[in-house]
Amino acid sequence: MRIGFIGLGIMGLPMAGHLVKAGHEVTGFDLSETSVAELVAAGGTGAGSVAAAVKDAAIVITMLPADPQVEAVFPDIAAHAPADALYIDFSTITPRTAQQLAARWPRTLDAPVSGGERGAIDAVLSIMVGGAESDFAAAISVFEAVGRTYELVGGPGAGQYVKAANQLVVGGTYALVAEAIVLMEAAGVDAAKGLDVLAGGLAASRILELKRASMLARDFRPGFRVDLHHKDMGIILDAARGAEVAIPLGALVAQLIGAARAQGHGSLDHSALLKVAENLSGRGAA
Ligand code: NAD
Repeated sequence: MRIGFIGLGIMGLPMAGHLVKAGHEVTGFDLSETSVAELVAAGGTGAGSVAAAVKDAAIVITMLPADPQVEAVFPDIAAHAPADALYIDFSTITPRTAQQLAARWPRTLDAPVSGGERGAIDAVLSIMVGGAESDFAAAISVFEAVGRTYELVGGPGAGQYVKAANQLVVGGTYALVAEAIVLMEAAGVDAAKGLDVLAGGLAASRILELKRASMLARDFRPGFRVDLHHKDMGIILDAARGAEVAIPLGALVAQLIGAARAQGHGSLDHSALLKVAENLSGRGAA
């Protein structure tokens, strides 16, 4: 299939490369010419504009940072893509914006992903999809090429609600693991052995499994940046307002992630919530 791919960043570039490998004709556009050149090196075609990337495309894909970027490119997609093209937005944006896009383009799927840069490179992303069943069926070869788990979870915006739920649990888990580390270290117990025990009991989680060693070593290289999780906490709070539910713990986690950013840790991995937990107790370096 001919695919127009907009947004060739950390996630988009490897995803576009997998679509090329799966046999699709991928034409890509990004504000960064280097990224476009990398897609060309991977066997894709480079475009100089959104319009050039999407004309003749059967499928149009965006993988952009946030709502403003998606809203900025959408008018060019709508003006230049074939009227029957399927539009898949892989970006993490608000459910509200996803629903507005779906109202403006007949065949639209919101399809945010989980799995991080590693998941994009290894083509094992989890994909939560909102939209029509017929459009989901038409997108399966794309999901197969970039992911391992993909589910249609409801109508327009539903994928973004599930992604918001995902980021809520991830952010909250990091905050609690950080507090557990501060408590154990302050009490003078062996925090490494303590976390090993936690990881073997009911408190076990993927975060404890994958990140406890790097957190104890204060290795906060990203990974997933605090800045992006801060953006996602805004989406979560907005989604909760839209759904008219209270998420008090989510609101608190949003404040802690906001504090991490305000303390200058925006470009660190979100496990740097440990720095905020330490600062609250007057421990650790600023
Ligand atoms: P990124 O910043 O690396 O990539 C975004 C790309 O979009 C950049 O290359 C940028 O140049 C390009 N871009 C911005 N505005 C543009 C425009 N108007 N026209 C064309 N190109 C434009 O971001 P990323 O890490 O690839 O994340 C993309 C999305 O995926 C975000 O919504 C993020 O929250 C989500 N996500 C990221 C991860 C992760 O681990 N990085 C994991 C899951 C989901």
